[in-house]
Amino acid sequence: MALGEFELIRRFFAEPKVKHPSTVLSVGDDCALLQIEQGQDLVVTTDTMVEGVHFLPDVDPENLGHKLLAVNLSDLAAMGAEPRWATLALTLPHCDEAWLQGFARGFFGLAERYGVELIGGDTTRGPLTLTVQAMGLVERDRALRRSGALPGDLIYLTGELGAAGMGLKILQGKTAIEDPTAIRHLERPEPRVDIGLKLRGLASSCIDVSDGLAADLWHILEASGVGATLDWEQLPLPDGVRRYLAETGDWSMPLSAGDDYELCFTVPPANRDELEARLRSVACPYARIGRIEPQARLMLFKDGRSIELSRNGYQHFSND
Ligand code: ADP
Ligand code: MG
Repeated sequence: MALGEFELIRRFFAEPKVKHPSTVLSVGDDCALLQIEQGQDLVVTTDTMVEGVHFLPDVDPENLGHKLLAVNLSDLAAMGAEPRWATLALTLPHCDEAWLQGFARGFFGLAERYGVELIGGDTTRGPLTLTVQAMGLVERDRALRRSGALPGDLIYLTGELGAAGMGLKILQGKTAIEDPTAIRHLERPEPRVDIGLKLRGLASSCIDVSDGLAADLWHILEASGVGATLDWEQLPLPDGVRRYLAETGDWSMPLSAGDDYELCFTVPPANRDELEARLRSVACPYARIGRIEPQARLMLFKDGRSIELSRNGYQHFSND
């Protein structure tokens, strides 16, 4: 690399603005040291993004830095955790300073908004591969899990469904529909950290929608040993997605497309009023999209018919 490894770390990653008093030791030693208060659980997650697999080679590095951290913060949000720290493992084909500057701007821009301190990482040469490990805190035994949904619970989704999938269709040239907001959803997802915190004590289960609503809701159903019915009319589909569906008839797209990073969660009916009041207090758009059922299957009620959905969002028993 033109810049040495240590010079690169020092220039771009060693002086974060966020510093927590509970960070005993940060970048510069063999490990970081963190002090965890009694009565708190440490919540840990990691996600990797590989060029050509998770992002297109020509993506804006600032968007990439944002998204790499956002997908990790989205996992913390789904557990109801408060973000605190992150480590960053970079594998770079070469040292491109303009690229690194953009990447760092996107990464730290989001990190500063959510109080995330970068406390370490690794830097190596190779095919472009980016990994973040994010850590957060939650009061002992208050974390949201996938496993608590019960029959009768209401199913909620934050934000809109299928916007990122629509953005991908546009970038891949698979549709002529123009929709800049869809591309922004794909490239700069906003992790629902504030919402995750509001769900603690009210939601019976929660997951972030990274692989598509059907696939991720299935994880809740399996972990909880239940099934669900979704109501097509209640799905929060943005205009661009509606236009795409009208044009192609590909109705399963918003159920199967990933990368939305919205939260899908279940709530016992007794908690409904309090939950909706809390969501309004943070001005979070949300939709009530279905209900948990005892039988272990995922049904979609659409145009007067019940359709059984597979894990990838398609019709379970297809005629073709
Ligand atoms: P070691 O050889 O002990 O693993 P390194 O030489 O890999 O240490 O890294 C030196 C220091 O710089 C460590 O504290 C490490 O956590 C930090 N570091 C390395 N790469 C990054 C990065 N991309 N972002 C932030 N910190 C980093
Ligand atoms: Mg190392």
